[in-house]
Amino acid sequence: MAEFDAIEFIEKTKQGDSPDADEVRDFVRAFMEGHVSDAQAAAWMMAVCLRGLPDEGAVALTKSMLESGAHIDLSSLEHTADKHSTGGVGDNVSLVACPLAAAAGATVAKMSGRGLGHTGGTIDKLESIPGFRTAVTPRDFTTQARNIGLVIASQAVDMAPADKRFYALRHQTATVDSIPLIAASIMSKKLAAGASAIVLDVKCGRGAFMRTAEEAQHLARLLLALGRAHDRAMAAAITPMNQPLGRAVGNVLEVREAIEALSGNGPEDLLTLSIATAAKMVALSGAVATEDEARAAVEEALASGAGLAKLQAMVRAQGGDPRVVESPSRLPRAEHVELLRAPVAGRVTAINPLRISEAVDALGGSRRRGRQAIEHAAGVVLLRKTGDEIPDAGEPLAEIHAPSRATLEEARTLVGMAIRIGDTSAPVPPPFEIEWVD
Ligand code: URA
Repeated sequence: MAEFDAIEFIEKTKQGDSPDADEVRDFVRAFMEGHVSDAQAAAWMMAVCLRGLPDEGAVALTKSMLESGAHIDLSSLEHTADKHSTGGVGDNVSLVACPLAAAAGATVAKMSGRGLGHTGGTIDKLESIPGFRTAVTPRDFTTQARNIGLVIASQAVDMAPADKRFYALRHQTATVDSIPLIAASIMSKKLAAGASAIVLDVKCGRGAFMRTAEEAQHLARLLLALGRAHDRAMAAAITPMNQPLGRAVGNVLEVREAIEALSGNGPEDLLTLSIATAAKMVALSGAVATEDEARAAVEEALASGAGLAKLQAMVRAQGGDPRVVESPSRLPRAEHVELLRAPVAGRVTAINPLRISEAVDALGGSRRRGRQAIEHAAGVVLLRKTGDEIPDAGEPLAEIHAPSRATLEEARTLVGMAIRIGDTSAPVPPPFEIEWVD
């Protein structure tokens, strides 16, 4: 490759003269070979933040980041499916939708991440199950997918290392919130994980990276385009994240809630989204002929307990204690569980997901504040959600699960600030809605 002129490349993007696919590819290659400095890469990403990047450039960026590392080859398996959420609070859909999709005929092979910023991560949640191994070799990943149809693991091989380096720079240079950069980052890793069908859940609202419907639609369309450019069967939904999903926020509490949901007792929003996601995964994977058949198969998997049995099979295969699925009381429990009570009667008008996430953080349940080890049992269970009436002052609003008394007070204050109570005449919010994007 002729020497790459990074300054000209940055200048061109800065002037709004979009680089073509070959130039983007050469840039990523030169960066990974050490011919483009971190400062130059960060400057280019700032130019993209301010000037944008056309889809052709985003496709090339995704492809180059994907090709910078290893990928999993699932071509020997049929009906492979994966899902990804752009991140929310209390989002344990993967723990419900993936077992349901597997029980309904898809081969679910999913690589997940840890918590990022205020959002939780599926790997942290799974590690709250005693003994559960999230580090799985590529060979075992494929074998487990073949044998039981369900595996959820952390990145065992160096997938999309260019993304890792770009992401670290984006964190330091206020360049995280660019839609083409976010889309390329997500899809380079999803494509490397190998599934042929991918369902995306783009969260929208105050607890999500995308705050407005326009931003969420832009991201969803670009994610779809990037996957389709790599011959994957794709679907994307935009779903609300203005309050936490379900009732539980915190690793072990979300696992417990997922087990309850797979037993048919989950919160309505969690079940609605999990069933819809699982049905899309099954339909796109080609395991059945139509979307209606996929939905019927998923509903049957829920009603019969086959989804719960799949979760148990995965827990067993990955070294976890399978008994927790039948007896969730075997899961770790926080030392102190306290109720937060309503100061007044009325109606819950809002629950700020960011504040709830901060409360979980204060309890030690997240990786923010540079924490390496997290308190898996820490968290919050919302006993009331937006729209619920509070007939009397003193009614329980939330449970706070604290590993120590020292963390309780800060968490209690934050949860109290998160839950807003208004008059009973306050309008009831619209039901949970899923918007599929073509
Ligand atoms: N998640 C990712 O993997 N990358 C981003 O850039 C943002 C969210």
